[in-house]
Amino acid sequence: MSNIVPNAAKKLQFSGRDLFGEEIVERRKPKENGYAAPPGTGPARETCKSCKHYAHRVRAKKYRKCGLMKAHWTGGPGTDILARSPACRCWEEYK
Ligand code: SF4
Repeated sequence: MSNIVPNAAKKLQFSGRDLFGEEIVERRKPKENGYAAPPGTGPARETCKSCKHYAHRVRAKKYRKCGLMKAHWTGGPGTDILARSPACRCWEEYK
């Protein structure tokens, strides 16, 4: 069988509804650009916001950054992190 899916099947496959007719809401996934390590590799129930490396860079607006990645920061959102992202393995507690 070929991997080519007819257009009608594609429409059904990506209709945005689940088996029960409920609309599928996609959650925004954390971008991997600005994190010191992959999110979710750190302690359970901790987030970037609770990490001592969590930082803000204020320009025209406030950008959330990881302090460990400061050498790679840009002036825009390319190296941003999400405050609610699960902690990475470089997470450290405030002391
Ligand atoms: S958990 Fe801390 S070290 Fe890891 S990406 Fe977030 S702010 Fe940076």
